[in-house]
Amino acid sequence: MPTKEVTAQVTEDYDAYLFDMDGTIYLGSGLLPGVPELMDAIAQAGRKRAFVTNNPTRTRGEYAEKLNRLGLSATEDDVVTSGTLTAAWINQNLPDAVCFVCGEPPLLEELRMRGVKLSKDPGEITLVVSSYDRTFEYWKLQTAFDALRNRPQVRFIATHPDMYCPFPGGRGEPDAAAITAAIEACTSRQCELVIGKPSPTMMTTALSLLGVPVERAVMVGDRIRTDIAMGIAAGTKTALVLTGDTALDELDQFPVAALPDYVLERIDLLAAPLL
Ligand SMILES: [Mg+2]
Repeated sequence: MPTKEVTAQVTEDYDAYLFDMDGTIYLGSGLLPGVPELMDAIAQAGRKRAFVTNNPTRTRGEYAEKLNRLGLSATEDDVVTSGTLTAAWINQNLPDAVCFVCGEPPLLEELRMRGVKLSKDPGEITLVVSSYDRTFEYWKLQTAFDALRNRPQVRFIATHPDMYCPFPGGRGEPDAAAITAAIEACTSRQCELVIGKPSPTMMTTALSLLGVPVERAVMVGDRIRTDIAMGIAAGTKTALVLTGDTALDELDQFPVAALPDYVLERIDLLAAPLL
């Protein structure tokens, strides 16, 4: 049953635990209370876990390093970015695609490593991928334009939908939506698929990589509109932690269908049924 009350006790256990990172696992440079206990319980029970982020401007290895610096033992295989999932989606759905990517080097590396063919030649491009790109230049827009305009057979997707990336202290940076909009504006083409949160494609692809069915997974995060919305859309259980972006009294703004199954003051309530 979806709830907006604080959950006193979690009695169900899951085969896969998917975690947002910022506001859920850590805040700034510190792990949140209960995280090490929950990670130990998941490991000891032999269950699967993954850390999911929309931001593909760092490699999975860099995220794993951050988790290790904070005291969790994680490898790059525990991290999925929207880049990982974009590669998986391309391999599953358009395995012969020749891609042009408006993105940063870690995203290109992730795609290339997973066997996705990349090109800057508009004549051979069959898929344009837009993303968070602080290396965006006019030639990239021109290439996307040449590849997409009057060529309806060429597909157009985005790694994730974020308008901006917030920084601590209130500043931020234009994110993938700005690049997607620039390409849409000059080509009259609409981006046809957005992989990252809150699209359920992110969850279903991550779970297919883990080999766990949606009904045996729980998505844990601190944002209703992205983390929880994605879990609900994909058909997993959902847990909102109150350690990040959402306060309990904000839950009144949402319809019942948008509410999580659990509202947790501490993330390690999820550990009890595993022990
Ligand atoms: Mg978060």
